[in-house]
Amino acid sequence: MASTYSAIACPHCGCCATQDYYYKTLEKFIYCFRCGYNYEKIITSWEGNKPIFTQKEQKGYGVCRIQKLDGERSTKIYNRPLSSEEIIKVATGFLHEDVNTDESYFVIFKDNEFLTLAGTPPKDFYIPFEEYKKDRESNNQQLEIIVPF
Ligand SMILES: [Zn+2]
Repeated sequence: MASTYSAIACPHCGCCATQDYYYKTLEKFIYCFRCGYNYEKIITSWEGNKPIFTQKEQKGYGVCRIQKLDGERSTKIYNRPLSSEEIIKVATGFLHEDVNTDESYFVIFKDNEFLTLAGTPPKDFYIPFEEYKKDRESNNQQLEIIVPF
């Protein structure tokens, strides 16, 4: 498919998010692996040769990434606030022996703030996009583009 990935400021948390833009169809997807925000604008029907777009936006409430010692990895994003029971359940999962807590993290996004509840998020993860971009460029590093799936 004809698409371009780029790093953009997340419309929800302001950190680095990934945009996937299909320049032929004008369809667009945004994923944020900081706060969990996602957005899609897709063609759902046609009126003659005119595309009808549908937009869907889900705010982010946090992300949980689990890296196991055997290499297995899973990432979960939350599109609704978690209850206390759910938070305890996810955080308790970090106590399992097979979880590499140095490379796993459970962060929630609430009232415009990130709160680390378990594990170790990457250290440049939760800085505003412009600052992150400047930092990366001054170190000759590429902007991180996380391609889902
Ligand atoms: Zn975000």
